Amino acid sequence: MQKLIDKAKIEHTLSKSEIVEILKDNSINDYLFKNADEVRKNYTGNEVYLRALIEFSNICHCDCKYCGIRRDNKNISRYRLEKKEILQLANYAVQSGYKTIVLQSGEDIFFTAEYLAEIIKGIKQNDIAVTLSIGERTFDEYKILKEAGADRFLLRIETTDENLYAQMHPQMSLENRKQCLFNLKQLGYETGTGSLVGLPGQTPESLADDILFYKKLNADMIGIGPLIVHPETPLKDEKNGDLILAIKVLALTRLLLPDINIPATTAMETLHPQGRILALQAGANVIMPNITFEQYKKSYEIYPNKVSVNYESLKTELAKIGRSISCKKGFRGNHDRT
Ligand code: SAH
Repeated sequence: MQKLIDKAKIEHTLSKSEIVEILKDNSINDYLFKNADEVRKNYTGNEVYLRALIEFSNICHCDCKYCGIRRDNKNISRYRLEKKEILQLANYAVQSGYKTIVLQSGEDIFFTAEYLAEIIKGIKQNDIAVTLSIGERTFDEYKILKEAGADRFLLRIETTDENLYAQMHPQMSLENRKQCLFNLKQLGYETGTGSLVGLPGQTPESLADDILFYKKLNADMIGIGPLIVHPETPLKDEKNGDLILAIKVLALTRLLLPDINIPATTAMETLHPQGRILALQAGANVIMPNITFEQYKKSYEIYPNKVSVNYESLKTELAKIGRSISCKKGFRGNHDRT
């Protein structure tokens, strides 16, 4: 098994059956994490990129079975930020030294491509990268947003298992989601995807397919999160995802796509106090602090008990593991490896 990991570290390839073998063998975890950490260091350096997250609307027309802001959850107060509030938060991010803003929302068509384009142009008056995480749109809409100045786009595939995808996402299709991702790539976005680990019925084989899909897409960013069960969703009686399995998927992704950006996701830390640090030492090189107004944070409850990041304690935590906060935009392939 160590030989497989050694090979992946040099060649950045693994077959589906090799990935499955590694996912199933927990005696290899420390070796896997250590090697993914080395690949992260060699390709992206010791700096950690921060992305300031603005959750600008929790209104959503999708009904994903796991998600707390799904359309059918009536037990949640819905909000939408106004353009001037989004620009105010963006200014705060600029003043605080962030070099990337992530605009995330439910699938809220109130925000037309034209309206979002105005917001993006406003933000881009500053020297800051803009990442969108707003769900599925048409090629032409993605084009308008790109031309307005958006740099990156996050759209997790969630799972590449066709049946599981259909079960989890009423009225949506895996095929369309894949098409959206290839459209984003074609339009020149730095494109991010990723999976939810721990969906009911998900297998190691399908997780291996997910990782191979990231490679096929040549994704620029990968966000992996364990499922955290939300009590107001149809999955309320299921178990949470397994943090270690999620970190194994992250580490394998780092071995196969050595220079990409991989966040230590909030879901990882929400599951375990050490989740973020474990991820940062198993291949992750990005953190996404949430800068949404306090009064809205609790309404953007994709899953319960979402933790937040404190800048000062983050700096201290990172220093302890030999890492520092970057002051760069942090595009793929533009890492400071000194
Ligand atoms: N509407 C946007 C943003 C969705 S929220 C989009 O479709 O891309 C961002 C991510 O939160 C989702 O991609 C999903 O993977 C994750 N998520 C949703 N519900 C979750 C839950 N219960 N536990 C953990 N992660 C969850």
